[in-house]
Amino acid sequence: MRKVDSHTHAYMLHARDLEPMALAGVEDVVLCSFVPIARYPETLIDHFTELDTIHRSRFDELGIKAHLFVGIHPRSIPAEWKRVLPIIEEFVSSGKAVGIGEIGLEKASDLELEVLREQLKLAKELDVPVIVHIPMSDRTSIVDKVLSLAKEVKFDFGKLVIDHTSNDTIDIINEANAVPGLSVKPPLLTPKDVAENIGKYSNGLLNSDCASLTDTDPLAVPKTVLYLKKVGVESGIIDRLAYRNAMKTLRLSRAP
Ligand SMILES: [Zn+2]
Repeated sequence: MRKVDSHTHAYMLHARDLEPMALAGVEDVVLCSFVPIARYPETLIDHFTELDTIHRSRFDELGIKAHLFVGIHPRSIPAEWKRVLPIIEEFVSSGKAVGIGEIGLEKASDLELEVLREQLKLAKELDVPVIVHIPMSDRTSIVDKVLSLAKEVKFDFGKLVIDHTSNDTIDIINEANAVPGLSVKPPLLTPKDVAENIGKYSNGLLNSDCASLTDTDPLAVPKTVLYLKKVGVESGIIDRLAYRNAMKTLRLSRAP
């Protein structure tokens, strides 16, 4: 069973935590840009370069292919955020990044909405997928706001991954034909939640959202695969959740 972890900040982790991912058969990881504090555009710009150079090769050494998503996260929007947009464009156009993320909404302030709108427009122009963050509170109203922004800019919902989906938001996302990102982490989803509602979640993209600052597990994807197998979920569905849906939606390629 092939596995891709479709949303991580695994660049924050030590090799001793990355090696078990490789041993558990994770072949591909998506590295989503994020720094907790970015007062200046240069902080993000340097971060993107760090992902492309230092961190990409750390994963290469473990036999894991890293795919980059770069963007302005709603929790750390620099004052002069517009200066980051041409850099995101350059990363995508040159093939260093395959999409825009992690972007999204945290409190849905006017500034956050404007930053998200501009990044959706850019992703549309570049014809690439986006990975969109939703917060822990006001979740359904935030998802509605993401969907209406995407509609406003005529963004292709097939390329709109709304991540950190859980039992509260999965129906709205499915009904809109957007793509649910499934972060298996507390307090959102457990492997059991996915198994018990497998019909609702089968279009999803499993991920760990692993990072050093949060209660996450770099092995969330292989552990979920193991659990789904144990409770008898059909292997074709597990293959889609753990591999095929992400490869297709995020247009990940195994070529060097
Ligand atoms: Zn994340």
